[in-house]
Amino acid sequence: MFDPKLKEALARVQKPGRYTGGEPGSVYKEKEKVDMRFAFCFPDTYEVGMSFLGEKILYEILNQRENWWCERAFMPWMDMKAEMERLEMPLYTLESKDPLTAFDVVGFTLQYELSYTNILAMLDLAGIPFYSKDRDESWPLIVAGGPCVCNAEPIADFFDMMMLGEGEIQLPMVCEAVEKAKKEGWSKRELLRALAEIEGCYVPSFYNITYKEDGRIEAITPTENAPAVVHKAIIRDMNSQPLPTHFVVPMVGAVHDRASVEVLRGCVRGCRFCQAGFLYRPMRQRDSALLDKAAQELCSNTGYEEISLTSLSTSDHSQLEDLLDRMDVWAGKEHVSISLPSLRVDNFSESLVQKTTKVRKSGLTFAPEAGTQRLRDVINKNVTWEEIEKTCNIAFRAGYTSVKLYFMMGLPTETLEDIEGIAQTAQRIVELFYANPDKPKGKSVQVTISVACFVPKPHTPFQFVPQDTKAQLEEKQQHLLRSVHSRKINVNYHDSSTSFLEAVFAKGDRRLAPVILAAYKKGCFFDGWDECFKYDVWMETFKEFGIDTAFYANRFIGLDELTPWSHLDYGVSHEFLVREYNKALGAMTTKPCNRICSGCGANKLLGGPCFDYSANLVH
Ligand code: SF4
Repeated sequence: MFDPKLKEALARVQKPGRYTGGEPGSVYKEKEKVDMRFAFCFPDTYEVGMSFLGEKILYEILNQRENWWCERAFMPWMDMKAEMERLEMPLYTLESKDPLTAFDVVGFTLQYELSYTNILAMLDLAGIPFYSKDRDESWPLIVAGGPCVCNAEPIADFFDMMMLGEGEIQLPMVCEAVEKAKKEGWSKRELLRALAEIEGCYVPSFYNITYKEDGRIEAITPTENAPAVVHKAIIRDMNSQPLPTHFVVPMVGAVHDRASVEVLRGCVRGCRFCQAGFLYRPMRQRDSALLDKAAQELCSNTGYEEISLTSLSTSDHSQLEDLLDRMDVWAGKEHVSISLPSLRVDNFSESLVQKTTKVRKSGLTFAPEAGTQRLRDVINKNVTWEEIEKTCNIAFRAGYTSVKLYFMMGLPTETLEDIEGIAQTAQRIVELFYANPDKPKGKSVQVTISVACFVPKPHTPFQFVPQDTKAQLEEKQQHLLRSVHSRKINVNYHDSSTSFLEAVFAKGDRRLAPVILAAYKKGCFFDGWDECFKYDVWMETFKEFGIDTAFYANRFIGLDELTPWSHLDYGVSHEFLVREYNKALGAMTTKPCNRICSGCGANKLLGGPCFDYSANLVH
């Protein structure tokens, strides 16, 4: 059934199931009968990509149109990539096995900066020229969506068009334009001009960027009548947007192999380091009745026995307890367990624990992010020790014996005292466990501290701050290790060099494109994978191109400076980011959006207030 070359490659690689397709739920159409073909590309492995909810949502939306066919492609792991190069097999989609060059649109999702070289690897494997300027209308349109589009300037020259914001309504509009262009024989330029008129569509080649002598941006000038500022696309009413009720069920274990329903989008909290929290504003939720129905349908269609209620902050859903009660009616009978991946310490209740532990009792995971109250106030993580204590006591009483805590290191204004606070927080949790009179006999507790390096991100109040240098981060990691004195506490931390590259890309500009291409050609890809990351090759390549990485990662950006992302609008005003930054320096907190509006500006996207404060109901 497979092409002989594919058969040969599959016989020689690990996990051939990553490359075969044919999974339950995948969509097959007769290619002669479709008018628009879309290759949805995830620039990481099959297992990572198949865990991504956004792809499932858009796959279903596009394939609902009878005359469109959306297929999937993933970055082949190193062994398969080598086989494909040896056998001269172009990168293909899992459904039709056609090469990417057979598609009208090749769309990449940009979920994290360290996948950028994988995009180049996928274009290369497909035999598609890297730069947009080198592709005419005979090539597929190469587009991108996802959170990194908020500043994907380092790779903007490789794309014909990028989509800011939410794709559910926007992507079908793009595909309609592509279909029309194809039927009417438009030139690529004509198509791009039409696309630039769609909400949230950004055509990088329509913007000229000039730089000052000191390297900072001088001007971003639109051409071809493109808007001076591109505003993100948004779904105003989440209830109007149906949830996916079919998933492609992966053959090879995905990282998150379970059903999931997105209960809300956005976040009310305003943690100042969190890019997603600002990009997806305002928070909008779906009604519990709709969620319950979609969850049951999804479980019955896919056969999954676990369903996750996902979002940036699920416990902020105002009808969460009602939703769990509704799901309880069928979940137990159908042997489906419910998981809540993003609980918060400050609204973790006894009844919530009981409802989610009825079927599955696992470790408790929380993200205090910083070890002292002062620093938690700086980052606006409105969590107190009392809340952590209360939550742990509830969890320990419910039988939990392991706690995982996520922290960040290198946060603005951080001192060694804050680092010691991380160890002290873990120690106090260990002590709480042993102080619990109902502690199960013979059981001990395990507290795991997982510490990530802070990366300042665009569109957040911390976009202005420099990242700590590698040496500073390494010293802080050592200090943390020295501060932990109990065997009940494990410490996990990450090598700071990947976070450094992430910071360079996150705040980078178009001058980085040739460096990224050169590094790819020297063998850099899968940069997000420790075993593949080649820090020295990256540093050597930056040097060759005369790029000072500290200019991007370790420099303070002036509060009134033009940034590479100044023309990309996600709803939150620049003034608000500056205000929040100044409040951070004074360790002043900002209340969640559902309690009081702080005037970030994102409500302009809804055309009215984000919340009905009188009734305390979410719109
Ligand atoms: S406008 Fe107000 S309520 Fe809406 S997202 Fe911004 S701060 Fe929150």
